[in-house]
Amino acid sequence: MGDTIYFALLYFILPMKRSEVIFIETLRIQFFLKNLFSYSLIKAVRNFPSLFISKVQGLEDPAMKKVRLGGWIELSAIDWPGNLTFMLFLSGCNLACPFCQNRRLIPLESGTLYSLEDVKAKIQRSLELLDALGFGGGEPTLQPEALEELALWAKEKGLKVFIETNGTRPEVLRKLLNSKLLSYVAIDVKAPLRNGDYGVASGKPSMAPEVIRSVQESLRLCASTQVPYEARTTIVPGLTDKEESISAISEELAPLDPVYVLQQFIPSPEVPSPQLREGAPISRKVLLKLARKARQKGISKVFIRTREYGLEGIDKDGSG
Ligand code: SF4
Repeated sequence: MGDTIYFALLYFILPMKRSEVIFIETLRIQFFLKNLFSYSLIKAVRNFPSLFISKVQGLEDPAMKKVRLGGWIELSAIDWPGNLTFMLFLSGCNLACPFCQNRRLIPLESGTLYSLEDVKAKIQRSLELLDALGFGGGEPTLQPEALEELALWAKEKGLKVFIETNGTRPEVLRKLLNSKLLSYVAIDVKAPLRNGDYGVASGKPSMAPEVIRSVQESLRLCASTQVPYEARTTIVPGLTDKEESISAISEELAPLDPVYVLQQFIPSPEVPSPQLREGAPISRKVLLKLARKARQKGISKVFIRTREYGLEGIDKDGSG
């Protein structure tokens, strides 16, 4: 409409020849095209960095917080007995235990990255049924920011929070405990806290002194809070199935008065050590004998965990 009035003005009202009108129109079109080109150019230049970033990063938003997961169980009744728990298994571990049942989660780049918002949405779907959110691994404390944010979110949703850790990152544990985000902690005590034993059991002999110091600090930390916690040892043939091993661990644990759980190792083709892939699981009888030893060393709350019977408390006389 504006163009029609403008053209009529030039052609009929102003005393201009048709050639003059065409000349002016040509200039006007050139001016319009020039501006259009400039506008497109500015827009393209402005967009270039984001186009470039999108291509490099696969359209990921760098600000979006993520967690690397090896898997999850939406409703677990066994990971934290007495609590229906949504278990998240965070991938990546700083140890290399020869009896690890989650070997594929050991590499730091294993698993898949998920946005925290997606993970929360996943948990939210079964929120009504859940008592707790649990973190296992891999080693969950290697992703402290994701851990903290998810734990905080779970607390706000009224869930309890449970963590299984190898105890090597006491600083992460301390922060979570100080923020009152944890309801229950399970710490691995893989072997007697001596360099030779822990080096073999953790698969990291050169790191043994540092690992032992960290595990001791994590245990002391838990013992100093009101948060219930357990120390757990997997009873592995040739590593921790001797009474002497459990005596040594129990002497270290007794002053801290933890719940102590001896859990049955089950051979599997998945474990890193070829010697541990076959054979019979450690028997309940052996576990009972070792549990008796732990009781004799002064630990009052001793349990065994087997595939057949689950979690069993052990009396003073060593019966289940
Ligand atoms: S601490 Fe040991 S058993 Fe646990 S995930 Fe790491 S390598 Fe496996």
